[in-house]
Amino acid sequence: MPLDHTHVPHASSWLASANGHPDFPIQNLPYGVVRRRGSAEAWRGAVAIGDQVLDLAALSAIHSLGQPADSALRLAALPALNAFMAAGPATWSALRHALFEVLSSGADEAARHAARSCLIPQDEVEHQLPTRIGDYTDFYTSLYHALNVGRLIFPGKPLTPNFQWLPIAYHGRASSVVISGTDFHRPHGQALPPGAAAPVYTPCTRLDYELEMGFFIGPGNALGRPVPLADAEQHIFGMCLLNDWSARDHQFWEMAPLGPFLGKNFCTSISPWIVTMEALAPFRVPFERPAGEPQPLAYLDEAGNRARGGVDVQLSVSIETGQARTQGLPAAEITRTSFRHQYWTIAQMLAQHTVGGCNLQPGDLCGTGTVSGPTPEEAGAIVELSLGGSRPITLAGTGEQRTFLQDGDAVILRGWCEKEGAARIGFGQCRGTVLPAI
Ligand code: CA
Repeated sequence: MPLDHTHVPHASSWLASANGHPDFPIQNLPYGVVRRRGSAEAWRGAVAIGDQVLDLAALSAIHSLGQPADSALRLAALPALNAFMAAGPATWSALRHALFEVLSSGADEAARHAARSCLIPQDEVEHQLPTRIGDYTDFYTSLYHALNVGRLIFPGKPLTPNFQWLPIAYHGRASSVVISGTDFHRPHGQALPPGAAAPVYTPCTRLDYELEMGFFIGPGNALGRPVPLADAEQHIFGMCLLNDWSARDHQFWEMAPLGPFLGKNFCTSISPWIVTMEALAPFRVPFERPAGEPQPLAYLDEAGNRARGGVDVQLSVSIETGQARTQGLPAAEITRTSFRHQYWTIAQMLAQHTVGGCNLQPGDLCGTGTVSGPTPEEAGAIVELSLGGSRPITLAGTGEQRTFLQDGDAVILRGWCEKEGAARIGFGQCRGTVLPAI
């Protein structure tokens, strides 16, 4: 994807809060679905710009962007972005360029006036899921996460033989994907206590988060028609933050031989804004295999993927405990890593998903799997940081200790991209709070 004037770092907006904004400068323009908080207004598409959102339904009603952007705008203004995602990269790019024009410092007075009248402060809106998610698949593509968790479950042989040959995944549950800010109750289920002969039915005692990214499917593929790796990114609209909440005690008891089930399907949180692949273009990095690792089979290998299949997204996890909230202390950051360390790229994940003929549909969601970096401090789940619950971590601020999550804990994921020669862009945050078991 070529860089153009919408990526130039010194490009600015007439909206002062956009310029230098850590997440939402004019170079980003991520999509979400909003309405005024607490209102009964219709949900509609929006883009984030500075500390505001641009209401695309309102803009569509009062201002023409010309064609083909007007057609794209009408799709992006709908209460779910499936149709906009189905329209494909040329349509997405047309709208990005048109919205950039109306929001840029060089916009003419009529465009500026129209767009200004369609702004709503971000802290006055609420979000719903950006698409009707038909299917949700969660991959498992961090070598470091697989090794960290594998060592806890299968100490002698932590890595399954398939891991280095294909991006492995399980089919998740779309119905329990929720938007950031949606809290959930600690789940009940079966667990086998250490040393016990029979399982118990219990509220989860080993509740965890998983730091992941998600990506949304653009145009789908017909049943029986795989997407070649070289075309895979034409089918990816953009990325978000994703928290795959995990009940480790339930998961480890139930997952052999068919994989994750109730240990994963009680809640999956995503961030409200989808950052487009076009906005992420300056932050692409080569796909690299660590020395001595097997090289991908031919259908998972391609020059474009090797040159720029990775994405360098900086990621962090923070925990805000109930005590921290009471004392007015900030959330304690416990992890910082980058998505660039992932063993497989999102294009390889999509190619693998379809290689047997499985059809993906517009607005489907894929999780990348937990993102853990090469050092122990870069682990993307608390089961790794606490070595399976055997070594508590200490939270800055309150000094509280955690092996797993406690009731009242809020987990906050953040993601951003920054490098020399590009404007910093971000994903905002993905937040959820653990409520007591019912
Ligand atoms: Ca996961």
